[in-house]
Amino acid sequence: MVPIEEAQTYVLERCSRRAAISTPVSEALGLVTATEVIAAESIPPFANTAMDGFAVRSSDSAGAPVELHIVETIAAGHNPKLTVGAGQASRIMTGAPIPEGADAVIMVEKTSVKDDVVTVQAAVEKGNHIRPAGDDVEIGELVFSAGTVLTAGHLGVLCSLGMNEIDVYPRLRVGVISTGDELVDDGGVLAPGQIRDSNRRTLISLLTGDGFIAIDLGLVPDDEAAIESALVNGTDHCDAIITSGGVSMGDFDYVKAVLDRVGDMRWMQVAIKPAKPLAFGTIGHTPIFGLPGNPVSSMVSYELFGRPGLRAMMGFAQPLRTPIKGVAAEPLLRRPDGKTHYARVSASYEDGTVLVRSVTGQGSHMLTSMARSNALAVLQNGDGCDTGDVVDVLLLDSVNIA
Ligand code: AMP
Ligand code: MG
Repeated sequence: MVPIEEAQTYVLERCSRRAAISTPVSEALGLVTATEVIAAESIPPFANTAMDGFAVRSSDSAGAPVELHIVETIAAGHNPKLTVGAGQASRIMTGAPIPEGADAVIMVEKTSVKDDVVTVQAAVEKGNHIRPAGDDVEIGELVFSAGTVLTAGHLGVLCSLGMNEIDVYPRLRVGVISTGDELVDDGGVLAPGQIRDSNRRTLISLLTGDGFIAIDLGLVPDDEAAIESALVNGTDHCDAIITSGGVSMGDFDYVKAVLDRVGDMRWMQVAIKPAKPLAFGTIGHTPIFGLPGNPVSSMVSYELFGRPGLRAMMGFAQPLRTPIKGVAAEPLLRRPDGKTHYARVSASYEDGTVLVRSVTGQGSHMLTSMARSNALAVLQNGDGCDTGDVVDVLLLDSVNIA
């Protein structure tokens, strides 16, 4: 058996980063920047007020309360026309440019107005409530380094800088194929021996959730020619392909046979449970992940190999999920068998600790356990762990924190 780390390294080494492209900022959420972002503009672009109030000369407010003559009203989006002279003030709204002459803003709550005279009730310091030009970002500043994963906040900054396009590693198009003569997906009555295809839906959903573009390449029977043509056609318009089924030791497990023939494939028995068999290869430059067919195995195999490989192709510096430390709220038992076990658990955040509890039905065909769990507890070879033991946890979904 191949240790998990070796299998992951093998996959990651063959999942090279795709060439960078320029993409609209509107489509860049979750993508990784390929170049540095240098500010061509400053944020804010001009000095403006942080408060609704009055722009004044701070020296005028020294003897507060003082009365100042209101010379104009400045709304956000409008340029001041007049200079604020001694004994004068301009009424000003949040975000509006500071007029010439003024060096402070007094908030409206600290004033009273009668006709065109404002009474300033408190002295203000120079610069009070003024947001200078470049307060957040200066022209020429390095805003984001290459390798930044773009979140909502990053995209907002790019918009503030007037950038419509950004150099990123492109969102991957990943084809998904289910293989197996027993599979149907038409919702009809099952003939003897048939089962319904669930893997395509789970894998497509995992891909979508991880920010990839999933492409449904359909159901393919256990037939070498059909599998070959589905894979080869898929490589025409996908950056990577995920198959499920047909990689075990059975007589009709043709995926690995086809991959062996038309691609450069390594078939591994990985020292893990579930998801022991893995056929990983490339057809040309397109990585093919041949995942096992058992519904839980295919999901766990996606988590351990598919997701990291695809993230590496999309430029993520950290393709593997980082395990967090959880505490077993009950014994998580297993038997020594030379494998690392990935137990489906429910993780919950209680009093500052992530507690994990086993979910029932750990068989690799028992998909409801995947639906009930939000994490995998990593149980090294041995007898498992006791209540209170610290255990590595791969959080697949958020814990009970909205
Ligand atoms: P295989 O890896 O092809 O030997 O399949 C292992 C087990 O997973 C068998 O019981 C299959 O019927 C089942 N299986 C394979 N593919 C799927 C699928 N797409 N959806 C649900 N079960 C599947
Ligand atoms: Mg099969």
